[in-house]
Amino acid sequence: MSGIVVIGAGQAGASLVAKLRALGHDGQVTLIGDEPVPPYQRPPLSKGYLKGEMALERLFLRPESFYADQGITLRLGSPVTGIDLAARQVHLGDEMLGYDQLALTTGAEPRLLPAGVGGALGGVYPVRRLADIDAMAPEFASGRRVLIVGGGYIGLEAAAVARQKGLDVTLIEAAPRILRRVAAPETSDYMRALHQAQGVEILEDTALARLTGTGRVDGAELADGRRLEADFVIVGIGISPGTALAEGAWLALDNGIAVDEMGRTSDPHVWSAGDCASFPYRGARIRLESVQNAIDQAEAVAANMLGADQAYAPQPWFWSDQYDLKLQIAGLNSGYDRVVVRQAGAAQSHWYYEGDAFLAVDAMNDPRAFMLGKRLLAAGRSPDPAVLADPGADLKALMR
Ligand code: NAP
Repeated sequence: MSGIVVIGAGQAGASLVAKLRALGHDGQVTLIGDEPVPPYQRPPLSKGYLKGEMALERLFLRPESFYADQGITLRLGSPVTGIDLAARQVHLGDEMLGYDQLALTTGAEPRLLPAGVGGALGGVYPVRRLADIDAMAPEFASGRRVLIVGGGYIGLEAAAVARQKGLDVTLIEAAPRILRRVAAPETSDYMRALHQAQGVEILEDTALARLTGTGRVDGAELADGRRLEADFVIVGIGISPGTALAEGAWLALDNGIAVDEMGRTSDPHVWSAGDCASFPYRGARIRLESVQNAIDQAEAVAANMLGADQAYAPQPWFWSDQYDLKLQIAGLNSGYDRVVVRQAGAAQSHWYYEGDAFLAVDAMNDPRAFMLGKRLLAAGRSPDPAVLADPGADLKALMR
């Protein structure tokens, strides 16, 4: 059996196979995943699903019947063990599966704390897969103490859920401020104040020496000698791109599986999209760790596998929900040298500039600022910072 084989049944893989059919491709399509469940949405894992407010079926991107109805062979719980580029075969243990074209949508793996510092103790959880959330859910009982390691979106979203469920929450961040990798100090300050007002203890510039406990975690020792007690620990210290199969096949890597503008890897029959793929962008090479990129890049790759020959042009945006805050981000802020703060009643937005060029906006409960930012970026326009900073200014005028 040949045809198109897609390895990785997450958001990117599911989007890719659906797009192949939507574009009219009627050849053999196989989607292979190592988890035992059909492709599901990850964003609710650290939000509504962790809170217990979302049924499992609502996580699924499509009902399982969709794949059969579309003639897509879905192989779940099937870890791929290797790829033979020369023979154009995928290995699943002893089984070989031929392909004409292959796509790697292998996503990313959470960085874990090493066993030597207590990372393998019971009661220590990463946040990446459905099984991780199902395993930690029973820990979320009111009055218990959770230690969260890492102040990125995973850590902050988990902190919000834990507080809303009445847990005692301490979050430690090794860097001088939370969200340092992804946001300006203004946004870190806003998010810190939000969490502190909700009763989260945030310790920045605070490195972990080790988690403590025998068999099961009971706390942590910090690098400065302090001791914290905890009933369980959530680890959100970033992700690494899922490159193991690509590496084993000698595909070119560069902070992920290196692809060209079309999504093609160093082998002409192999493509890649989503969290695992690094692609050329404005003279650099980036990976975008976002749902929107997983969908858009996978759909672009689907079209290119069918011969469209169209370069992928991302329009990055992100969001996060914490308590009553809806944070929406448009654009990529890398290279910014100043931030303009706009206050409009309870809404606030932070606008990133490099010189006079507008790069990105973080909008806090300000959907109008987010929409405007997105439209300005799509149009390649940079609003006058003085107008933005004026709370009385009409934002719509900036688009005219
Ligand atoms: P992240 O954004 O890389 O944040 C991890 C944070 O943990 C960083 O600030 C990191 O500091 C810190 N850290 C690393 N090692 C540490 C240690 N030993 N002790 C204390 N702090 C430590 O990653 P993440 O929050 O784990 O999220 C994983 C992925 O999911 C990311 O791609 C993220 O964007 C995505 N995600 C997105 C959303 C959303 O868009 N709403 C929500 C959840 C997750 P350094 O930067 O100094 O290493």
